[in-house]
Amino acid sequence: MALDSLPVFDQSVFEHERQPMSPVTKFTLIALIRVGLAASALGGLVALTIDVIWGVALGAVVILAVVGYYAYKLASLSAWLDDPQAATLPDGIGLWGDTLGHLYRVIRHERAAQQTLADTLSRFQSAAAALPDGAVMLDNQYNIVWCNPSAETHLAVSLKRDRMQVITYLIRNPEFIHYLDSRNFLEPLVIRLQHNKSATNAASAAATEVILSLQLVAFGDDQILLLSRDISERERLETIRRDFVANVSHELRTPLTVVTGFLETVAIAGTSNETLLQKSLAHMSAQTTRMQHLVEDLLTLSRLEDNRNRLTVSPINIPELISSLLNDAEQLSNGRHTITKHIDGPWLLGNRDEIASAFGNLITNAVRYTPAGGTIHAEWSQASNDAPLIFRVTDNGDGISAEHLPRLTERFYRVDRGRSRASGGTGLGLAIVKHVLIRHDGHLEIHSSLDAVQHGTTFTAFFPPDRACAIEDRMRAVAA
Ligand code: ADP
Repeated sequence: MALDSLPVFDQSVFEHERQPMSPVTKFTLIALIRVGLAASALGGLVALTIDVIWGVALGAVVILAVVGYYAYKLASLSAWLDDPQAATLPDGIGLWGDTLGHLYRVIRHERAAQQTLADTLSRFQSAAAALPDGAVMLDNQYNIVWCNPSAETHLAVSLKRDRMQVITYLIRNPEFIHYLDSRNFLEPLVIRLQHNKSATNAASAAATEVILSLQLVAFGDDQILLLSRDISERERLETIRRDFVANVSHELRTPLTVVTGFLETVAIAGTSNETLLQKSLAHMSAQTTRMQHLVEDLLTLSRLEDNRNRLTVSPINIPELISSLLNDAEQLSNGRHTITKHIDGPWLLGNRDEIASAFGNLITNAVRYTPAGGTIHAEWSQASNDAPLIFRVTDNGDGISAEHLPRLTERFYRVDRGRSRASGGTGLGLAIVKHVLIRHDGHLEIHSSLDAVQHGTTFTAFFPPDRACAIEDRMRAVAA
């Protein structure tokens, strides 16, 4: 007989019989068999040895005891499920032992998963808290669902207080409301917000302006993530940069215009007019010198402001330096002022060129801004070893009104533009002084009086006492 002609064994015939038994059926069957066996074994034994009635009664008692045990365990489990924290997970024997053991493993696994989730959430929260950018999660009604601490600072909201509050009630900025409604997810929005700084009493609460760049990001089921970035500092620097470029251009344009004008005049008049030529050359030379001073001061300032340019120090013989600067001041004054000094301080540990530039600026300013007949007094002193070192220049010029004082060290800030230019000022002198002092851990104080009798201005440079030069350093410097 050919193999092919043999009947094929149909496996599907037995597939129904090999279906695995459901766990519930299996559990019930085992429980019934165990109870049945225990009841019949004990009941049968008693029936055979004592009496059938006693055997049946014992069998019934065994069944009742087992059912009671199961009911008790079920009740304990139910109590535990109602309040897992208050009660402990019940234990048991036999099938109950297996079941509760299984339940215990499931719970342990669940708790581990919950712990992992809690750890991940806490890591996410720490990361979100450390973000310099603000993030606010909004639902489709613009309610605040969550936000990080940076967003709280940027937008002056509090997650604790404002959770589920509509953000547009808290930030009542028309541009912001329009931006949210427009749902423009491509372009960021730049807004200015006024924040009331927390203060002990309302009267002293000061409003500070913060400039924010806001960006919307759509996510999930119609939810919005609002990202905020504080760009106040960037905007401030940008404004300074713009003003600086405008100022430098203006400062250079004026002398250039003058030089161009004279060149055109000479070109038209020719070189035959000797007097005109001499006058034009003198004017052009003065304007060129002015431009030169401006460029030099700009370069000095840029070197001082450059953090990479580290301060190199050596002992400076300040008494000698001041005497030399006062000699120059005498030349500049040309006998128009009475210049005096009181030098009683130690040498200074610093950068000689920078200190000479700062002290020189203060002395020259006193000469330039004090009318003829005025007095100028320079002082170098230290009251005691742990007192600050002081360089002070006092004049009895017209004085400066109080509103100008805080701005005097700004670049190109002048009280009287015409007077500054006429006396060859670049408007950068006091900015240079301020930076030199900062680099030497010092600071500048300005006092001025417009009083009809006691008028005049005092500039005081303070240095910390540890900048005073020890005698050994002085000896070494002299020997070098
Ligand atoms: P400038 O080159 O214009 O003098 P500075 O930065 O040195 O620039 O000074 C800034 C401004 O401060 C001056 O334009 C002047 O108005 C004022 N100023 C400086 N020193 C004195 C002074 N001793 N008395 C009166 N005004 C002064």
